[in-house]
Amino acid sequence: MTKLQTWVEVPSTSDFTIYNLPFGIFSTDGNSPKAGIAIGEQILDVAAVAHLGLLDVSATYFEQSTLNAFIALGKKTTNKLRLDVQQLLIDASSPLKDKPEVFVLQREATMHLPVQIGDYTDFYSSIEHATNVGKMFRDPKNALLPNWKHIPVGYHGRASSIVISGTPIHRPKGQVMPKDATTPIFRPSARLDFELEMGFIVGNNTDLGASIPVDKADDYIFGLVLFNDWSARDIQKWEYVPLGPFLGKNFASSISPWVVTVEALEPFKVKGPSQEPKVLPYLQYSGERNYDIHLEVGLMPEGSDEEIVSKSNFKYMYWNMAQQLTHHTVNGCNVNVGDVMASGTISGKDESSYGSMLEISWAGSKPVTLKDGTTRTFISDNDTVIMRGFAEKEGIRVGFGEVSGKILPAK
Ligand code: MN
Repeated sequence: MTKLQTWVEVPSTSDFTIYNLPFGIFSTDGNSPKAGIAIGEQILDVAAVAHLGLLDVSATYFEQSTLNAFIALGKKTTNKLRLDVQQLLIDASSPLKDKPEVFVLQREATMHLPVQIGDYTDFYSSIEHATNVGKMFRDPKNALLPNWKHIPVGYHGRASSIVISGTPIHRPKGQVMPKDATTPIFRPSARLDFELEMGFIVGNNTDLGASIPVDKADDYIFGLVLFNDWSARDIQKWEYVPLGPFLGKNFASSISPWVVTVEALEPFKVKGPSQEPKVLPYLQYSGERNYDIHLEVGLMPEGSDEEIVSKSNFKYMYWNMAQQLTHHTVNGCNVNVGDVMASGTISGKDESSYGSMLEISWAGSKPVTLKDGTTRTFISDNDTVIMRGFAEKEGIRVGFGEVSGKILPAK
């Protein structure tokens, strides 16, 4: 990779290097939310830069509370904008160097949902996760259902309850069937869990009836975020047959604030797992379609330090994003700018890389000890779950920051 040098001070461990330049929506001091680009510990106020006449895109696209209108301009425009900003942050004679007012410290800003999410779909694309859940919920000998290696299995989720990192979540209540009971009861979930996922944001509309070919799918993906798909396992277990996840899932999902573009992640592409049996022709792809992104989950009780309970990697995914989007639209289902599609829980082969407490504690049979000496099989009230992700190659880092959320007692 070509080495790039910015005149902005960027800490060596920063996720937001000159190679990254992710987009987000921020506000300061009660001002209206607008678009920013993260660099080091700062946010570049893109509208302010546009007002200086330094960009091809009008400031009006950035003076909005979501990125949808900007993303809808198309990749040709959004990619050029990002590269123009990169050049402005590299040039030794950049006109921004004596314009400190176009920068805001991230710690002084409030972040908001980056896009208006019309629809949200959650996949189930990690073979390790699907196998683990199949073993626990169904049959240890036939953990994967017969369709799993032929279809990127997914379900339609709920966009209304997707929240930005930092938003506290109340423990959901619902119907559960206690072990050895014959009638269900209503109570706060006793098996509240996280799911370590990544989500991608759709960057182009399609028409009803149109399908996205697998080798064109990248053109329809604007960028990625970290995604915590909070799950209530006891509610899920009772309700999910025959139509799949419902109230065990739709009470909340949390996303990270910075959208890392697929272009910034291009250098971190790797080969995916080989798919046997061979998938149907419309799902066959060429080239490297997985991404080497290190992921971790921290669990932090109130008043204590966090314990890292999982280290996983996005590269483990059996089904890649191109296949997911292709499958989603193969029947003519249309997608829109701002739709979010999440990967499904990202688990690796060994226990230290499992992406949910359900797997880490093996359905509650193996408690995890935290820094304060207490143990967990699932999430307790006032625990905070923090997920982080970054890619690194040849000393070049492109990261996502974090998505965090605290669990409050049931209302
Ligand atoms: Mn999920």
